[in-house]
Amino acid sequence: MTNIPQSLREVLQNRYPLNPPRIIETQESSDGTRKFLLELSDGAWIETVGIPEEKSEDKESGAHSRLSVCVSTQVGCAMGCAFCATGQEGFTRNLTTDEIVDQVYLVADSFNRRVSNVVFMGQGEPFLNYVAVIKALHILNDPQGLAIGARKITVSTCGIIAGIRRFSQEPEQFVLALSLHSAVQEKRNLLMPQVRNQPLNQLKDALKYYQEKAKRRITFEYLLLDGFNDGEDDLMALLEFCQGLLCHINFLRLNKVPGAVYQASSPQTFKEWTKALEKQGVEATTRLSRGADISGACGQLKNTHLLID
Ligand code: SF4
Repeated sequence: MTNIPQSLREVLQNRYPLNPPRIIETQESSDGTRKFLLELSDGAWIETVGIPEEKSEDKESGAHSRLSVCVSTQVGCAMGCAFCATGQEGFTRNLTTDEIVDQVYLVADSFNRRVSNVVFMGQGEPFLNYVAVIKALHILNDPQGLAIGARKITVSTCGIIAGIRRFSQEPEQFVLALSLHSAVQEKRNLLMPQVRNQPLNQLKDALKYYQEKAKRRITFEYLLLDGFNDGEDDLMALLEFCQGLLCHINFLRLNKVPGAVYQASSPQTFKEWTKALEKQGVEATTRLSRGADISGACGQLKNTHLLID
C-alpha cells in the first residue's frame, strides 16, 4: 500500500502481520479428501483436512454439496491418547486465533468453494487453548467473517471438564463432541492417560450441565477397538453413561498408525452395537472413514515427514 506513509505501513506490519501458512504437502484421497501439511510463520507444522461431499443434501441450506474442514488447535498435543499419532509427538505450543481461522480459508481456496462445516478435531485439545479457539469460532460464525452457522461448527474435546463448563456459557449454538472411547474408567485411562484426572462421573455432571444450559444434543465419539472396548460389559457401561443425556454416538473406525497396538473391531461388531443402542433409544451411526488411502489419522502425515526429513 504505497498510498499510505511508510511509518504507518510499519505500524500495520508490526501490529497486524500477514503470515498465511505455507503448504508443505497436499495429499488427495480417491474420495476427494485433501490433507494439508502446513508450515506456520515460526516454522511449526500442523495438519488440516478438507472433506468434500458432493451428493449430500444439507437440510437447512438446501445445498447439494458440503465442504467440511477439520482444523488443528495446537502444534502437537499433550494428551498422549494411545491411538493417536499426534499424541505420540507431544505438545509444542498453542495456535493463535488467526492460525486456526487461516486453515479454513486455505481449504476454501484450495477447493474454490465455500466451507459449510468446521470440526475442531485435528491436532490438539481445543479446550486447552480456550480463548484462541472461542475467538476463532466467533470469526467463523460472524456474518462478516465466514458466516458458517454455529450448528455447523463442532468442537471436540477429550473431556476437559472445566472447558465443557465454560463452553456451556457460550450463547451461540456451537456443537459439542466428546471423545469417549470407553465408559469404563480403567480402560479410558489406558486409552487417554492425560484425562484420568477428569473422571467419568464428574464428566457426566459437566455434560448434564452443558445440556441444561445449551439445550443441545452431545455427540460421543467411540473408537470400537477389537477385544479392548467392544465387549458386552463395555456396551452396558456405555448405555449407562448415556442415561439421562440427549446424545448421539458416532462410532469410528481406527485409522492404522504404524506400530499401534489397537485394531478396529469387525464390521459385524459395528452393526451389533448400533442395533443394541438404537433398541435402547440411543441414536448411533458409524462415521465413514474419509481419506483412508492417504495418511488418514491425525498427525500421521506430519510424522511421516519428520521420519523422512
Ligand atoms: S486424539 Fe486429540 S486429544 Fe488425543 S492426543 Fe490426539 S490430538 Fe490430542
